[in-house]
Amino acid sequence: MGLRTKAKEANRIVIKIGTSSITYPTGNINIQRMEALARVITDLENSGKDVILVSSGAIGAGMDKIGLSNKPTLLKEKQAAAAVGQAILMQLYQKFFGEYNQAIAQILLTADVFHSPIKKANTVNTFETLFEYGVVPIVNENDAISTEEIQEERFGDNDTLSAMVAVLMNADLLIILSDVEGLYSDNPLKNPDAHLIHAVEKLTDELMCVAGGSNSKVGTGGMITKLCASKITSAKGIPTILASSSDLKNIYRILEGQDIGTFIK
Ligand code: GLU
Repeated sequence: MGLRTKAKEANRIVIKIGTSSITYPTGNINIQRMEALARVITDLENSGKDVILVSSGAIGAGMDKIGLSNKPTLLKEKQAAAAVGQAILMQLYQKFFGEYNQAIAQILLTADVFHSPIKKANTVNTFETLFEYGVVPIVNENDAISTEEIQEERFGDNDTLSAMVAVLMNADLLIILSDVEGLYSDNPLKNPDAHLIHAVEKLTDELMCVAGGSNSKVGTGGMITKLCASKITSAKGIPTILASSSDLKNIYRILEGQDIGTFIK
């Protein structure tokens, strides 16, 4: 059985998209990208799959609205930007999914949900009920009140959040979309011989070292947080695919079992 067969058979999928994928380098929202994402996800729903979208971009969208050109440094400023931006994100998703008459829901999570059995059970029930209704849950961390994520602690980012959601909901596949094609053998910005690694059977220390920090002005995670996230899913037997968001039809190709991005078993 080929490694990618699991992607072909995936029925419950968590898709994570990063801030730099839904904003332009100018900081403004990439409307085309968000629109295409809504179209593909609705199509997957129509085909009978359960999709959860984990979307970053709250702080980025807030910065744009308030007129900040650089990411704020104070926690209270980041939280204020996220509070403004989360509403904008959902308004835009509402509009784009609405074009296909696809219902969406907002779920803002905090780390304590994963530590409390009652909150955890209730959250699972909410997701399951949304699936029964054919609704696409759109998840982010509750940045306006929680501090774990945007303080940039080691695991504080939406890559980790998406992996935790995939485990929580027993997903078949996690797809992490970002502005890079996947994991490279070396930093492609510095080494012209660096090549894309299509499949990873085991995350070795060496591979973890190859993954550098975040190059993005707006995003929080880098390749290292994506690999750490995939450790969380692979421990539960859920594969992760790291792929570029530049062509969202890649999601279809991934689900056809094509060799897109990096597949982490
Ligand atoms: N939750 C943050 C936001 O929506 C993003 C965190 C991350 O980049 O991973 O702005």
